[in-house]
Amino acid sequence: MNPIPQHIPSLINGVAVPLRAGGFDIPVINPATEQTISLLREADAHDVDAAVKAARKAFDEGPWPRMDIEARKDILYAIHNIMMAHLDELLALEVMHAGLPISSVRHHVIRAAKNFQMFAEVASTVAGQTYTQTKNYLTYVTREPKGVGALIAPWNAPLALASMRVATCIAFGNTCVLKPSEFTPLSMLRMVELFHEAGLPPGVVNLVNGRGHITGVSLVSHPGIDMVGFTGGSHTGRAIMAAAGANLKPCILELGGKSANIIFESADFEQALDGALVSIYSNNGQQCLAGSRILVQRGIADRFIKAFVERTKKLRIGDPMDPRTEIGPLAYKAHMERVLSFVEVAQADGAELLVGGKRAAGFETGYYVEPTAVLAPSNKTRICQEEVFGPFATFVVFDTMAEAIAMANDSPFGLVSYVWSQNLAETMHCSRDIRAGVVWVNTPMMRELRAPFGGYKESGVGRDGATTSAEFFTEYKTTSIPIDPVVMPRLGLG
Ligand code: NAD
Repeated sequence: MNPIPQHIPSLINGVAVPLRAGGFDIPVINPATEQTISLLREADAHDVDAAVKAARKAFDEGPWPRMDIEARKDILYAIHNIMMAHLDELLALEVMHAGLPISSVRHHVIRAAKNFQMFAEVASTVAGQTYTQTKNYLTYVTREPKGVGALIAPWNAPLALASMRVATCIAFGNTCVLKPSEFTPLSMLRMVELFHEAGLPPGVVNLVNGRGHITGVSLVSHPGIDMVGFTGGSHTGRAIMAAAGANLKPCILELGGKSANIIFESADFEQALDGALVSIYSNNGQQCLAGSRILVQRGIADRFIKAFVERTKKLRIGDPMDPRTEIGPLAYKAHMERVLSFVEVAQADGAELLVGGKRAAGFETGYYVEPTAVLAPSNKTRICQEEVFGPFATFVVFDTMAEAIAMANDSPFGLVSYVWSQNLAETMHCSRDIRAGVVWVNTPMMRELRAPFGGYKESGVGRDGATTSAEFFTEYKTTSIPIDPVVMPRLGLG
C-alpha cells in the first residue's frame, strides 16, 4: 500500500496541485479512532477554475471525446483492472476514512471497478436514429458527448458512488471535475491516481478537494461546466440545482430517502426479518436506500418487532477493519450527534424507544452508536418524515394494504420501497401504487445497475442506469440532407 500523504492535494491533469502558503487545511479523521490521518488541502475558486479549464481543454482539444470507441473501451477496462489489482489498498483506505465495516465495503470496491467495465459496454452500444419519412430528405441523429461534468460525491459509500458518477460521465466521451466529500478523500485520491496509471489522458478526470460551500459552490456555479452530477442530501441538491440553473446547466441528482419497508402478514417471516435488518443496519445505516420506515401489519407486529429487537441487540459492533464487524462507527462526530438527537425527536412525538439510543458502551473512542429502533405512534411524526441516515429503524403498525400504501406515499421522499409478501395481489398493488423510483419485492437492495435508479419527489431528479445515463451524458444532433437540390424561395432578386 502506498503511504498516505501528509496532505491530500487536488489533482489537475493528473498532477498534484502544489501546496501554497496560507492554504486552508481540513483534518481527515479516522472515525474508529478519532485520530487525524492526514490533512486535506482545500481547493479554492482559483484551483477550481484551473481544474475546469483543464477538463475544458481535454474536452475541446484532447483525444478522449474523439477517440475510437475501442480505444476508449480499452482504457476503461484498464481502469477496472487496475482498481481490482489495488482492491486491498482501496478497501483499507475506504474503511479508514468512512468507518464502514470491511466485510460490506469489499463489494463497493468491486462495484466501483465494474462501473467502468459496464459503462464501457453501454457507451459502445449507443446508437443514433434515421428518418426518411420526409420525401427527398435523409435526416439522421447522432449522439455526442455533452462536455465537462461537475461531479459531486458523498461520504457514505465514496468509491461506489463517485465511480458511478465518473464512469457514466467519461464513458460517453465527456471530461469532468470530481469533488468528493471532504470527509472521505483518501480512496478518491488513490482512485484518480490509478485512472492515470491505467492510461487515462490528462484532464479527463480532475479532482478538487474541499468543503461544499467553498470548493463545491465554485465548481457547480462555474460557467465552464456543461452538466452537474450530484449524489448527496436533498437540501444540498436544492442549492446545487439552483446554482446550476443560473447558468442553465442540467443536473442529475440522487438525493435522500426515508424509504418504506412494508411487512405484510403474508410475508415469509424469517426472510422479511433478515431483509429488514440488512436494509436498515448495513453500511452503518448510512445509506440513501435504507429501509428506515418499517411498516408492519398488525397481526404479526408484536412478534416481528420482538424478533427484530432481539437480533438488533446481538449485532456485532466493532473495529471496521475486523471482518466479523457488522456495525462500525458513524462517519464523523457531528453526524453521530445528529443521529443520536433523533431519539429525543422521536420520543417528543410519542414514540417508544425499543432498543439502543446511545453511544455504544465499551468504546472509549470512535463515533460508535448502538443500533436503535423506535415504535412510532403515527407516520406523521418527524421520525417518520425526516431522514436520520444512521442505524436507526422506525416501526409503524398498519392494518390494511391501502393504509400501508398511503403511509409509504405520505413522505417528502420517494427513492426506494420494500415489500415483503407472498400474496401476488399485495405485491402488484404496491408495485403499481407506491410513488418511489424502485420497488424491491421480497429482496433487500437488489441493485441492477443497468436499470434506471433514482427517486421521485425530493429523492432526486433523473436516473442513473444504462439508457438513462446515456440520455443525460450525451447530446442529440440532428442532421438533414436533401437527396436532390431543394426548391426554395429566392430572396433578394429585386
Ligand atoms: P451532503 O449533501 O452534505 O454532501 C454531499 C456532497 O456535496 C459533499 O461532497 C459536499 O461537500 C458537497 N456540497 C455540500 N454543499 C454543497 C454546495 N452548496 N454546493 C456544492 N457542493 C456541496 O451529503 P452527505 O452528507 O455527504 O451524504 C448523505 C446524503 O446523501 C444523504 O441524504 C443520502 O441519502 C444521500 N445519498 C443519496 C444517494 C442516492 O443515490 N440517492 C446515495 C448516497 C447518498
